Amino acid sequence: MKVYVNAGHDRHLDSGAVNKGLNLRECDAAYELACLVKKYLEGNGIAVLFGQKDDLYAVCDEANREDCDLFISLHFNAFNGRASGTETLISGSTGSLMLGHCIQSNLRAVLNLPNRGLKERPGLFVLRSTVMPAVLVEVCFIDNDFDWRRYAVHKDDAARAIATGIMQYPGQMKGAALWGEAA
Ligand SMILES: [Zn+2]
Repeated sequence: MKVYVNAGHDRHLDSGAVNKGLNLRECDAAYELACLVKKYLEGNGIAVLFGQKDDLYAVCDEANREDCDLFISLHFNAFNGRASGTETLISGSTGSLMLGHCIQSNLRAVLNLPNRGLKERPGLFVLRSTVMPAVLVEVCFIDNDFDWRRYAVHKDDAARAIATGIMQYPGQMKGAALWGEAA
C-alpha cells in the first residue's frame, strides 16, 4: 500500500489558521503531525509520499502520477475560539467514506473531543482532484485553547490513531464488499 500524506497549507506561503495567544500556525502543526503519521506508517511497512505545498494542483498531480492507493490531508480547524471537536471531510465515494470512518473513529477515541463526524465535501479541491480514496482530517480547533492543549498532550497518540485508521482501511473495504455480495 502506498499512501500520500499531505500536510495542509505551506510553511512559507500560507500559514492556514492561527492561534495568536498560543503562537501557533496550522501549517506547522499539520507538518509536525504529518511527519509522525509518516513515521508510524513506514514503521509498519507502508510506503509514504509526503507533501506540503501551497500548490494543491501539484500535490494532487503527484499523488495521481505516483499511483498512491490512499490520500490523506491533515488540517486543524478554526472558527470563533469556542467551536470544538474532530471532523473528517470526505468526497462521498465509498472508499472515502470507509477511510474517513476508520480515521475519525480512532482519532476521536484518543482525543476525546466532540465528534463532529464525517462531512461530505465533494467540491473540495484535494478531494475532487485525486483519483484514489481521499479524506481531509480536521484534527481539532487550533484557535480553541482547550482543544489545542488536549491535542498537544496526545499528539503522538493522534498520529498513531490516524496511521491505525489507514491500516484498517483495506480490511474494512473487504468487509464491505462481502457484505455487499451477501445483501
Ligand atoms: Zn487548513
